[in-house]
Amino acid sequence: MALRFYNSMGRKKEDFRPIVPGEVRLYTCGPTVYNYAHIGNFRTFLFEDMLRRVLAYCGYRVIQVMNFTDVDDKTIRDSQAAGEPLEEFTERYKQAFLEDVDTLRMQRAEHYPAATDHIHEMVEMVKALRDKGHTYEHEGSIYFRLSSYGDYGRLTNIEPAEMRPGDRVDSDEYGKDDARDFALWKAWCEEDGDVFWETDLGRGRPGWHLECSAMSVKYLGEHFDIHTGGVDNRFPHHENEIAQSCCATGEDFANYWLHSEFLLVENSKMSKSKGNFYTVRELVDEGWEPAVIRFCIQRVHYRAQMNLSREALEQSVVSVRRLREFSRRLEGGLKGEGRGAEVAGLIDKARSEFRACIEDDMNTSGALGHLFILVREANGLADAGKLDAKDGENLLAFMKECDTLFEVLREDRDESAEGKVAALVAERTQAKAEKNWARADEIREEIAALGYTVKDTPDGPVFSKS
Ligand code: AMP
Ligand code: ZN
Repeated sequence: MALRFYNSMGRKKEDFRPIVPGEVRLYTCGPTVYNYAHIGNFRTFLFEDMLRRVLAYCGYRVIQVMNFTDVDDKTIRDSQAAGEPLEEFTERYKQAFLEDVDTLRMQRAEHYPAATDHIHEMVEMVKALRDKGHTYEHEGSIYFRLSSYGDYGRLTNIEPAEMRPGDRVDSDEYGKDDARDFALWKAWCEEDGDVFWETDLGRGRPGWHLECSAMSVKYLGEHFDIHTGGVDNRFPHHENEIAQSCCATGEDFANYWLHSEFLLVENSKMSKSKGNFYTVRELVDEGWEPAVIRFCIQRVHYRAQMNLSREALEQSVVSVRRLREFSRRLEGGLKGEGRGAEVAGLIDKARSEFRACIEDDMNTSGALGHLFILVREANGLADAGKLDAKDGENLLAFMKECDTLFEVLREDRDESAEGKVAALVAERTQAKAEKNWARADEIREEIAALGYTVKDTPDGPVFSKS
C-alpha cells in the first residue's frame, strides 16, 4: 500500500505523491504568541508532529515550516496591557512555546519564521497583487478584492455568495467594498501605538493571512506539498491564503491540505470561564507525564474530535506503562526455549498491519491496536517460557520502530530525585554494614517518600520508581 491522506481540497483520500521524489515540503500554521498555547492548539501541533514522523517513517526527507504570528490585534492588545514592547512580549511566548514543544517530545520544525522578520516579503507580495489588479485601498489600508479571484472557496466548497464573515474577520475593517474582502495591509491607527512599519505601502502593519503566504513562498517555494492547520483554519484563513498566493504567483499553491479536528475538554469547548482551559504546563503540574499527554492525543485519529478527560489520560497512563514494561522485559533478556519462526511471523504480521494503518491517512488508533495485540501475544509466549533472547531482540526492534512515531518508551527522568535516591541507597548500605538497622529502615522510608523502591539483589541494592 502507498501512503494516502485525506485531502481537504477535494474531500477524499488520495495517494501521496511529492513534487520532488523523496522530499516533502510542509507548511504548518503556527501559534499566535500572546499567551501560552493551550492543549487544543497542541492537538493540532501534535498532529503535525505525527505527520512529519509518518513521512520520515515512509522514507521521506521533510522540510517543515511553522510560523510565529507575532503581530496582530491580540499580540498588540496584550503587550500594551502588559506595558511591554511587542517584541519583548512575544519573545517570551515564543520561547515558552518551544519549551512546550520539547516537553511534549515534538520534533522541531526546520524553520520557525516570525511574521515581524518578513515585513519586506509581505510588502512585495501586496505590491504583486496590486500590480495584477486584485487590491483596492481605503484610507491607507489595502484590501484583497474577493470577486477578482474566480476560484475562491475551493477548499471549503462554499460559494462566495454564501459566505458569512466569521469571528476572525476583524471588526475594524469598515472600509471594505464587500464584507468578505480581507485586509492585506492595515494602515496605522492610534490603538496600534508604536507598532508600525514605514514601507512602500505607507505606515502600517500586515494582515494576518498574508504572513503565511509570504513565508511559505520564501522557505518552500511557490508550489509545495502539504499545508496543514486545525479545522478552524480552513475558512477564512486558508481560503484567503490560497487566493493571495495563487493570484500573486500565478502558480499552484499546496497540493495536499490536511486539517485536524478540535480537541474538547471533558466534552465541552475549552473556555476560561468553564475552568477547563489547560496549558501543557498546567497538565504537567497536575502530575500528568508529558509522554502520557502526547500519547493520549496522538492515539486518536486526527480527523476525529477528541475529548481530553481524566479517564482518557488515566487509560493512557496504563497503555504507556504496558508498552514500557514489555520493552523492559525484552531488554532484560528472555531465557525461554525460543520459537524463532513463529515469533518472526507474528512480528511480520504486526508490522505490516501497523504500517498499513499508518499509511492509511495516519490511522494511529488502528496501528496501536495491532501493536497491543502483539504485546499481549508475546507476553503470553514469554510467560510460557517460549521466547529466547533472539526473539526478544526482534520484538524490541519492532517496538523501537513503532516508537519512532509515538515516542513514549523513554521515561521522563527526574535526575535530581534520582541523585538523592542514589545517595540515600549508599547511606543505607553503610548503615547496614554498621548494623544500624533502625537507620537503614528509616532510609528505606525516605526513599519511598521520593517515589522509589529499593531492592536487595545478589549484585547489590537496586532502586526503581515505585
Ligand atoms: P492560534 O494560535 O489561535 O493561531 O492557533 C494555533 C492552532 O491551533 C491553529 O492551527 C488552530 O486551528 C489550532 N486550534 C485552536 N483551538 C483548537 C482546539 N480546541 N483543538 C484543536 N486545534 C485547535
Ligand atoms: Zn496560516
